[in-house]
Amino acid sequence: LSDLKAESKKTAVKQKKRVEIELDELGDWRRTHYSSNLTPELDGQGCVVFGWIASIRHQGNITFLVIMDKDGLIQVTAKKDEVGEELYEKIQRLTPHTSIGVKGVLKAIPKAPNGVEVRPKEIKVLGYASVTPPIQLYARKLPSLDKRLEIRAVDLRRPAAQAIFKIRQEALKAIRAHLLKNGYQEVHTPKIISSATEGGAALFPLLYYDKEAFLTQSPQLYKEQLVMAFEKVFEIGPAFRAEQSRTLEHLSEFISVDVEEAYVDYRDVMNRLEAIVREVVEVVKSRCAKELATLQYEPTLPDTFKRFTYDEVLEILAEHGCKVEWGEDLSSAALAKLAELNPSYYFIIDWPTQCKPFYISQKKDDPKLSESFDLIFGSLEIASGGTRVSSRRVLEKRLKEKGLNPKSFAYHLKVFDYGMPPHAGFGLGFERFLMTLTGQKNIREVTYFPRDQRHLTP
Ligand code: ATP
Ligand code: MG
Repeated sequence: LSDLKAESKKTAVKQKKRVEIELDELGDWRRTHYSSNLTPELDGQGCVVFGWIASIRHQGNITFLVIMDKDGLIQVTAKKDEVGEELYEKIQRLTPHTSIGVKGVLKAIPKAPNGVEVRPKEIKVLGYASVTPPIQLYARKLPSLDKRLEIRAVDLRRPAAQAIFKIRQEALKAIRAHLLKNGYQEVHTPKIISSATEGGAALFPLLYYDKEAFLTQSPQLYKEQLVMAFEKVFEIGPAFRAEQSRTLEHLSEFISVDVEEAYVDYRDVMNRLEAIVREVVEVVKSRCAKELATLQYEPTLPDTFKRFTYDEVLEILAEHGCKVEWGEDLSSAALAKLAELNPSYYFIIDWPTQCKPFYISQKKDDPKLSESFDLIFGSLEIASGGTRVSSRRVLEKRLKEKGLNPKSFAYHLKVFDYGMPPHAGFGLGFERFLMTLTGQKNIREVTYFPRDQRHLTP
């Protein structure tokens, strides 16, 4: 019986699915205009446009299609007496999300997007949407993120998602431009590695021929090595962490913006990081005004990024009735309290050495403290950095203190015998930074295909 029920359910679903309509070939049709190229001055010109159908509205003997291409919206208006029986009939069978090509004539219409619409002469159905997704394009109330992630490619067609990923693109461009302009070399380091660099989050093991290897948590050791030859380097690439808890700000795979520089210390790279954040916020505000309006969000930028020492932070927290043991990381309650006082970007510097990884330099006058910093936005850590240990002897000692085996790092320690310069750097979580630029509370919203404990597909 249950088999029968399942079977009848299946047919019910099938029946709901629309009858496919025959697809046209792309053939020699090529786009003449993106939506962003359309202006009323083009009135009377011929065009070929492509996109997917964002909405269909019938009004008597007129059908209004709005199609969306990568840049925006195009209105297509089909009047029955103008387009003829056959084309009008074809248009009636179009469904939302179907990808089409439209060959026609442009007509200036003040009310249309970009002040111009297309009067179709021919339409090609190039990708037929046989089901309607459960995602309304402009709705405030959306299906759960999990549901949307199941058909993420379609979910990303929503204008709000388009806005987020346009900002992602502009932010990425601005970071890269800033670093290149300031003489940093873009590098690529291996993502398959032999040993851990960051404590805490676990590594993902994998089989590398007949050996055990891991996916990298951070390009830390390799970017340090590269300053020997290139002095100023950066990498924008994936980092993998087997995070054990499911939170709104942790992914198993994220994009890390890593910077490392020779002959400077942590204060210099903090200034660099602040300059990057400032420039990116300005760029996003000026180039993505439309997208920020769609998201109803305005990124903030304080006049100065305050720099609190860890000890000062503990005092401030104590004054507000929040006790943190010296040497502990800041709890989420402590960070929430700090966010009330500092809702935007600020640094916490000079962390206890015990809070930081083995490669972070201790302070000369007080080895309990380190030359380190975190950049925080409200309660969200977005970057960590510091002056690095550049002496082999000290690095070996620090490895042992952290319970790590210097033998596993022999390949790394070796190069320190060849004149490793003093250096400093940081790692910025790109998606976390994007959360601050787009006002998103869940890191998955700013990630194309998020990876976490529960999501390995799509
Ligand atoms: P957290 O304490 O928030 O787990 P962390 O201190 O372990 O972060 P770092 O090793 O300092 O992280 O990594 C540098 C930056 O990379 C962090 O400041 C953060 O912006 C980002 N980052 C770290 N882990 C993740 C993750 N699982 N998902 C997304 N971004 C991350
Ligand atoms: Mg950190």
